[in-house]
Amino acid sequence: MLKKRYKGLDQAPKFISRTTTLNYQRDYSFKANRAVSLSTLNGRIVVPYDGYNKHIDLIKNGVKIGAGKIVYQRESKIYYLMVSLEVELPDIDPNRITRVSGVDVGQRYLSVETDLTNQCKFYSGKAVRHKANCYHKARQSLQRQGTRSAKRRLIALSGRERRFIADVNHQISKQIAKPNSLIGLEDLTRIRERIKSKTGKKASKKQRKANRNKAKWSFAELHSYIDYKANLNGSLVTKVPAHYTSQSCVKCGHTSRANRPNKGLLFRCECCGYQLHADLLGSRNIALRALLVRQDWMSTGILSASPNMSDDETKAEILQRFSELRWSLDASSDLSDSGSE
Ligand SMILES: [Zn+2]
Repeated sequence: MLKKRYKGLDQAPKFISRTTTLNYQRDYSFKANRAVSLSTLNGRIVVPYDGYNKHIDLIKNGVKIGAGKIVYQRESKIYYLMVSLEVELPDIDPNRITRVSGVDVGQRYLSVETDLTNQCKFYSGKAVRHKANCYHKARQSLQRQGTRSAKRRLIALSGRERRFIADVNHQISKQIAKPNSLIGLEDLTRIRERIKSKTGKKASKKQRKANRNKAKWSFAELHSYIDYKANLNGSLVTKVPAHYTSQSCVKCGHTSRANRPNKGLLFRCECCGYQLHADLLGSRNIALRALLVRQDWMSTGILSASPNMSDDETKAEILQRFSELRWSLDASSDLSDSGSE
């Protein structure tokens, strides 16, 4: 009988890990003049380091430093030292919040941001989504090949895809996390539903195919980046219920699915005829809900978390309060007397 030989199995596998966890003060420590001392198998080495100025300032100012990780990036052949920093959040006084904004996330525009003084910004998703879709398609085709080299390339590619999305999310969140703001974000649980709405039995074959080829943008990541960047900037994020943010008229309060003719880009109120870009309307509704959070905070001294909408009675009560919110350029831009009602 022939002895089957399996390639490589007659040798002990060699284990190479290029990722190591280092404890602060024991395995690594920061020195003056932007140098870091690392313990290696060949003793201690002291090497210069660089990073974002903001982060370096934090280290200089004696932030609490956690464990570090050495990560090797194969493409660039560079070793990175990732360090976790623990930042203590200052107690934020609602009186210091001088700006309230709302952020709507979605497929067409990754983000639409508006504040109550009507400063708004659209972050287009077209170009980046195209690139993300390219990554996604390349990944799918490699997955189908299933060869060893395809798998190797797949690992590199999915890393690149993830970093690309993270990079874009960093750029957007940096601009959104403005100082001294209360930033309203949607409770994300509904986002999946909204994107799903085009799939299922109702979707045409063509639509389903398009959905398959679409990369999923990480909105949860975008939200978490906005959150921590806001905290570093003396700002706060508040999660508001996302119900009907794209169907409620900010001028008269009328809420209906029919306010979005053909589910298109335009919002048009059946009742009062008010028209607006649908995504901007969404962000305005979110900003108004954030304003409500701020008012409650001012009057009670307690910043409440996003309410639990699973209880029908609470839900009805909250939606009732939401439907009384109005967008008015003059009144809402002046936050100083918004707490007195
Ligand atoms: Zn209306």
